[in-house]
Amino acid sequence: MLNKKIKELLVGTNNKGKLREIRDLLPKKLKIYSPSDFRIKSPVENGKTFKENSLIKAKYFSKKTKMICLSDDSGLEIDALGGNPGIYSARWGGKKGDFVKAMNRVFKELDKKSKNWKKKKIKAKFVCALTIYGTNQKLIQSIGTIEGSISHCMKGKNGFGYDPIFIPKGKKITFGEMMPSKKYKIDHRFKAFKKIKKFF
Ligand code: IMP
Repeated sequence: MLNKKIKELLVGTNNKGKLREIRDLLPKKLKIYSPSDFRIKSPVENGKTFKENSLIKAKYFSKKTKMICLSDDSGLEIDALGGNPGIYSARWGGKKGDFVKAMNRVFKELDKKSKNWKKKKIKAKFVCALTIYGTNQKLIQSIGTIEGSISHCMKGKNGFGYDPIFIPKGKKITFGEMMPSKKYKIDHRFKAFKKIKKFF
């Protein structure tokens, strides 16, 4: 356990949607930087799990800046697709991060599995792994998940990534239709963050 609270932090992501959400979760008094403040590009994510990839990013950005870094690796796991896109969630959006393309790929892959998929509940979950690196202590890592299902079409303009096709369990609207302030209080990132909140 850290004996001093973290005062200054690099949030290790070049994804603007994630940065906005993580900023919102962190205490306002914390001084926050992002890799774009230092013009650092993201490393290759060649881990096999969300946890491994979040460590790769946190370690890389921390070493480059000599700062304590909090990194997230997250994605959408769809049961009927054997857990895909999973750690490949960002890559399904291609180099340009086109998530309409990625969501259409989800629909296409589901079509391939079963033409009737819209008649079934397609279970899915968002997963988020967080790593804090650079504290001279043992690694700090946590995982958060939120369960739900895949919508038949894209709905809503809020959020980012796969938000327009994810309906959280117990709700009737997608994350894309939900007010961001509501989404931030129930999602995978929030749940993972809750477990490491004490360090800030
Ligand atoms: P990475 O963690 O940078 O490899 O990217 C994870 C990808 O998963 C993002 O680019 C999004 O497409 C997707 N993703 C992760 N969290 C969310 C979320 O809260 N909403 C929608 N998509 C997400």
